Parts: sequence; C-alpha cells; structure tokens
Amino acid sequence: MDFNFSDEQLILIDTIRTMGKRENFKQMAAQIDARAEFPQALMDKFGRMGLLGMTLSPEYGGGGQPALNALITIEELAKFSPLIAAPVFESSVGAVRVIDIFGSHEHKSRIIPGVCRGEYSVSVCMTEPGAGSDLTALTTHIVEDGDELILNGRKTFITGGGHASHYLVYARYKDVPGYKGICGVLVEKGTPGFTFGKQEEFMGLRGMPSCDLIFEDVRIPKKNLIIGKGEFKKLMTTFDIERCGNAAMCLGVAAGAIEEAVKYSQERRAFGRPICEFQDIQFAVVDMTMKLEAARLLVYRAATGAGKGLPSIYEASMGKCYANEMVMDITGRAMQIFGGYGYSKEFPIERMFRDGRAWSVAGGTLQMLKITMASMIYGRRFNQGK
Ligand SMILES: Cc1cc2nc3c(=O)[nH]c(=O)nc-3n(C[C@H](O)[C@H](O)[C@H](O)COP(=O)(O)OP(=O)(O)OC[C@H]3O[C@@H](n4cnc5c(N)ncnc54)[C@H](O)[C@@H]3O)c2cc1C
Repeated sequence: MDFNFSDEQLILIDTIRTMGKRENFKQMAAQIDARAEFPQALMDKFGRMGLLGMTLSPEYGGGGQPALNALITIEELAKFSPLIAAPVFESSVGAVRVIDIFGSHEHKSRIIPGVCRGEYSVSVCMTEPGAGSDLTALTTHIVEDGDELILNGRKTFITGGGHASHYLVYARYKDVPGYKGICGVLVEKGTPGFTFGKQEEFMGLRGMPSCDLIFEDVRIPKKNLIIGKGEFKKLMTTFDIERCGNAAMCLGVAAGAIEEAVKYSQERRAFGRPICEFQDIQFAVVDMTMKLEAARLLVYRAATGAGKGLPSIYEASMGKCYANEMVMDITGRAMQIFGGYGYSKEFPIERMFRDGRAWSVAGGTLQMLKITMASMIYGRRFNQGK
C-alpha cells in the first residue's frame, strides 16, 4: 500500500494551485455564483492544458491517465468552486466514459476529440419526474422502426441540460418491464423533436446548467444504441466512476471550507485574542480535518483500485457516501466558526455550504448508496419494491 502521490501527480497538483492563485480563481468562483454563469472560457483553457478527457483513450485524443489523476484535479479545482472543476468532471468521469468504454469506433472518433478540445460535452440522463431512486420505474421509451429508434418521454434535473452537445439517455424498450428493458442511447442536441424545459434554480451550484429534456417522437439511428437492453448492469457499473468524481467534488469543497476557517480564525478576535486560541475552535478544525482525510482515503482507495478501468461498486459507494456526509458536516461547522459572517454573502462559506449540499442527492442519494452497501455486507439483495 503506497500512500504517496507520484512525481507526476505532485506536479499536477502544484500546476493547478499555482494557476488558481495566479488567475484568482477565488474571485472567479464568487463571480460565477453571483452571475449564475457557467465558466465557458475554462473549457477552452483546460482543453489546451490537457485537463479535459484526462482518463479517455489516447487514440481519440484523451489523456489515458488513471482515474486518480482526474480526481485529484477535480478536488484541487473544487477547493475554489465545483463550477471551476465541472469541465474536468464532465470530460473525465462523466457520461463520456461510457462512450469510451462501450461505444463503437465511430462514436468515439465522432465525440471524444471534441470533448477533449472543450467543444463537446455529454450529459447523463436517468432521472424522470416519476423515477429517481427507483430507476426501474422509468417510462421514457423507445420503439424500433427499421434502422431507427423512436424516443418519447421526459427527463428531469439533467446536469448540462441545454448546454451539452450529446445526451446519454436511459430509456426502456417499450414492451420490456423492469431493469431488463433499460438501455442507453445517444441523442444529439438539435435532433428534431428533442427540446429543453426551463433552467432549474438550485440553491447551490449556481451556473451549472440543469433542466428537463423532452423527447417527442425523436428519431435516432439504431447505431446510437450504446448499451442494449439486458445490459443495464453495464450502465450502472460505469456510473461508479462518476460517483468517485462526485466524492472528489466533496473533498475539494470541504478542503476549501477548512482553509477559509483556519484563515478566518487567526484573523477574527474575540475576548481580546484571535478565536483560534480557543480550544473549541482548534478541536473543531482538527475534527473537520480528520474527517476530510478519512474521506480522502476512501475515495483514493476506490480510484486507485480502478486504475485506468472501473472502480468496485462497494468502494465507490462507500467513498461517495462518506464524502457526501463529510462535506455537509464540514461546511456547516466552518460556517459556525465564521459566526454571523458565515451567513453573509461577503464571505465564501455560505456558497460552499450551498454547493456542498448537492452531492448527497446528485449521482444517487445517501440512502440508495447505503442500500447498495448493505446488500454487499449481508450478501443478499433487499428488494425495495416488496
Ligand atoms: C445537483 C443535482 C444534479 C443532478 N444531476 C443529474 C443528472 O445529471 N442526471 C440525472 O439523471 N439526474 C440528476 N440528478 C437527479 C438525481 O439523480 C435524483 O434527484 C436522485 O437520484 C433522487 O431522485 P429523486 O429526486 O426522484 O428522489 P426520490 O427517489 O423521490 O427520493 C426521495 C427521498 O426518498 C428516499 N428514498 C427513496 N427510496 C428509498 C428507499 N428504498 N429507502 C430509503 N430511502 C429511500 C431518497 O433517498 C430521498 O431521500 C441531479 C440532482 C441534483 C440535485
């Protein structure tokens, strides 16, 4: 067991920290939140730096790097803001990985180079108004018609909705019930019959595009079927890479909040001395740091186990679950250290608190992750529907 970063990883971390300071990413994070605008300019910049598609196949322009490199990049950028880390997340641990792993040569050569240049992005589209945790209840469906598939239905809360160029849509073969009928089909923005609902107004992650997708008799070539019916497990397995990315976002937000709390507690004075001299503040900071480090170990273990492939479901679920709970706890405690100023928009803590809240729902709720882990610990399935 090696707990050290490689020289290459240390250089990566240093490059991002230096860039963040030089280009004042702290200020950029506040502006993104205030304006609720996606930092589009970063797509191009990160593309030129090789930070997009870090884990994707090199023969299509990807970086061919291990998952851990992408996760530490996401973590470092998310210390400023998850929005600043979003381009790396989407291009290195998002739905494009499903295309990289299961797509045909034609799919990969059409999409991956554009993703690595920051021109394309791929959204994952599972949730529906009536099917979130219980994905097997999804009703968006396809029927075959010669060489084409006809898609109908509605998706909701889709990150990248309206902004992404491609959408990996989980849909059901019309007559096949349960998980066996679920497949994954690629739909391009601009396809006739494919429209978007209004943009969501979330409490945090402001600037992250998200909306409903509406499919009305959308005709898609049959070759756009990336995962066929009966291969639902494949779709869920690749989703575990995204779960590690979600956890890395939590590591970054929590580390950013601790950094702010440590700084503030040395500047703010009460009873004639800096508040960091009160033991309760010190203990809070130590507890927060211990929790962050414990989460790091779980997330890095899942990523290291994945190498250039897929993580174990158990390790990825545990890493995400712990990191999701950890970031809510840490941003809340950091806010307490700031006193009244923690609740004010003058300081970044309230934004971190809002941004940290999203991850325990996005990518599967805490409860669903715990159900997955329980079934592994007990060695049996607990059917939630019976
Ligand atoms: C910021 C954000 C980004 C998102 N991005 C995407 C995206 O890109 N693509 C996408 O497809 N979706 C996305 N989602 C949607 C997300 O995946 C769903 O919200 C999530 O899976 C939960 O579904 P739901 O909202 O329908 O909640 P429900 O399934 O209705 O659950 C409501 C509550 O009941 C609990 N619950 C349900 N079943 C059980 C059970 N058996 N045991 C115990 N508790 C249970 C849940 O844990 C939850 O607390 C995003 C959501 C957010 C907030």
